[in-house]
Amino acid sequence: MSSQPSTWTPAGGAFWAGRWHHPDTTLEVLDPEDGQLVGRVGDCTAADVDEAVRAVAQAVLAGPAWPIWQRREALHRAASLLVEREAAFAELLSREGCKPIRDALREVQRAVETVRLSAEQADRLEGQTLPFGDTPRGENRLGWYTREPVGVVAAITPFNDPLNLVAHKVAPALIGGNGVVLKPAEQTPLVALAFTELLLDAGVPADRVAVLPGRGATVGAALVGHPRVDLVSFTGGYTTGNAIAATAGAKKTVMELGGNGTVVVLPDADVRRAAQAVVDGAFGNAGQNCLSVQRVFVARELVDELVERVVRLTTELVVGSKADDRTDVGPLIDETSAARVESWVDEAVEGGAAVLTGAKREGTYYWPTVLVSVPAGARVLTEEVFGPVVSIEPFDSVDAVVTEVNGLEYGLQAGVFTRDLDAALDVAQRLRVGAVMINDTGDFRIDAMPFGGSKRSGVGREGVPFAVDAMTEPKIIAIHRSPRPA
Ligand code: NAD
Repeated sequence: MSSQPSTWTPAGGAFWAGRWHHPDTTLEVLDPEDGQLVGRVGDCTAADVDEAVRAVAQAVLAGPAWPIWQRREALHRAASLLVEREAAFAELLSREGCKPIRDALREVQRAVETVRLSAEQADRLEGQTLPFGDTPRGENRLGWYTREPVGVVAAITPFNDPLNLVAHKVAPALIGGNGVVLKPAEQTPLVALAFTELLLDAGVPADRVAVLPGRGATVGAALVGHPRVDLVSFTGGYTTGNAIAATAGAKKTVMELGGNGTVVVLPDADVRRAAQAVVDGAFGNAGQNCLSVQRVFVARELVDELVERVVRLTTELVVGSKADDRTDVGPLIDETSAARVESWVDEAVEGGAAVLTGAKREGTYYWPTVLVSVPAGARVLTEEVFGPVVSIEPFDSVDAVVTEVNGLEYGLQAGVFTRDLDAALDVAQRLRVGAVMINDTGDFRIDAMPFGGSKRSGVGREGVPFAVDAMTEPKIIAIHRSPRPA
């Protein structure tokens, strides 16, 4: 994939044990916008997973050493190749996924940063000497620890950021000295195959990477349950996370799960700024983002102004074809997802919610929707919508908002808008979430920060340096020397 093709066909439908495979059974990858065929990939089996995991384990445990400097150079080359191929990656990502071309290009640029940052973590792979002098029992001992790879990392990824979330797992695993078996989302495997091809072109040893497209219940479950997999790094929904935890048992896991993006707008906030950020955060990628803004709590005295601004900005969004660079909002991943979002909005409306704009569906498209007066307990408030729907609720008491948010099952990231630093810090410190952005929504992340959530939103943290920590472990070597002769 060196120039921008209209349709890119991967070298094979899967890659493991150092070569491309063409499984007899394939999965069709369809463009969610119009149902057109974008490509075919292998529909891999549990037997394929077994072969792939054993091959990667063999490479890591018994293959030639892969020194840190070579890992760093390979990942720097991979980042440069991604820059060269960014247009082709953006087009493929946009076609098989949901992002309008502008947003797809931004994701490719994010992935370049993720890979580069991973290369730079080579410096983090160092240890320390051990303080044996701390105790009389340490007499005549000296030693140190180093950071060693955990071994085989199984990376399981969702459809919504199909390149950057793959990069967030594969690149930290590789710089840490691991082998990786990747199982991309059924809907968006092509970009994962293209990324694997790019890693091979960059000099990553072919026996250390594998990518097996296929179904969650087959390839995903076989990977999680495989005895030679040392760590499962999963990003996806809470229900899948639960299934993975049940299969993985005591295996190491890192899980990035869902959210229901809360924003708190305090009485002294800059409403214009808050409204723009809410619209950007609620409707980017048609709301299919774990950080998507879903609930906005606004001080009662500001509610009319905020609602008016949010509705106006929302109606200005261009809903359209992903290939058009004026498009702001593309389709949902499939019609089932669009119909689910529609039914949740219908349920809220039946309970008394008012639709201020949107609530219209055509096939996989669902129009950006602003709701008010949503009844307590409606799923658009309590569950993760994962679609372009935002609910705005006035409040009189900050304490009641904090209690409500902390009572939700998810706690990924949140935002608070205010000019009062003390008030901002008070809310930020009391919310049970993984991050609070002050004067922004929770829909912000840099790839170097610890990323993850409280409660149902995840287990452990990603973010490149933190992923490298999770995917490596300290190993001690200590010497008990003979006492000096008296
Ligand atoms: P999903 O949970 O349906 O699927 C994610 C991956 O898990 C896919 O590759 C799927 O095939 C695989 N899978 C399914 N069943 C499996 C099983 N039993 N064993 C192993 N693997 C299995 O999620 P999705 O619909 O692709 O993505 C949307 C979800 O991802 C949302 O909940 C969203 O919030 C979450 N997400 C979280 C983050 C984060 O960083 N916190 C980022 C993006 C998306």
